Amino acid sequence: MGEKKKKIIKTIKVDLDKCNGCRACELVCSAFHAQPKYSSNNPARSRIRVIHDPLKDIYVPVYAGEYAKAECMGRDKYVIDGKEYDECAFCRASCPSRDIFKEPDSGLPLKCDMCEDDPPQKEPLCVQWCLNDALIYEEREEEVEEEVTQEDVEIGLEAMIDKYGLEKVMDTMTRMSLAKKG
Ligand code: SF4
Ligand code: SF4
Repeated sequence: MGEKKKKIIKTIKVDLDKCNGCRACELVCSAFHAQPKYSSNNPARSRIRVIHDPLKDIYVPVYAGEYAKAECMGRDKYVIDGKEYDECAFCRASCPSRDIFKEPDSGLPLKCDMCEDDPPQKEPLCVQWCLNDALIYEEREEEVEEEVTQEDVEIGLEAMIDKYGLEKVMDTMTRMSLAKKG
């Protein structure tokens, strides 16, 4: 068992009754993560996507979660107000079976990073831009096991190299580090 540490847990609560599908959250997320920052916006690069059915007035913001190396053995299907959604529509994973939550040019996985920045944002950008208060930001302190280990990082990298090839991963990391320096 690792050492216990205090950690701030960041949560975004989604109030579906308040979301009207304006997609401002998608726009600002993609702009915030553009290189250079705010140089472009493209919902396909956003780490939040709004699954919608305008006829039934249903809008469900979904946040990009973990990268999945392989497809699930089974499939999820949701029926909301009589409307059946595509398989896996509300899944948060960047997964080989679909295009959502993948960087369109490189195909590398996208994951919500809570807009980690230096200096820190007051609140995540999607929360700030949601004028309907459908996204509510909360923080709490918890005791957790020690953070990510070197081994965890290596496993993550190996999985990406396995999937996308060493050259593509190296190329993307070089571009990211150059953009950060610039
Ligand atoms: S900005 Fe708010 S209201 Fe607009 S789509 Fe996103 S979550 Fe929904
Ligand atoms: S918290 Fe930041 S990174 Fe995550 S979806 Fe919202 S804008 Fe994007």
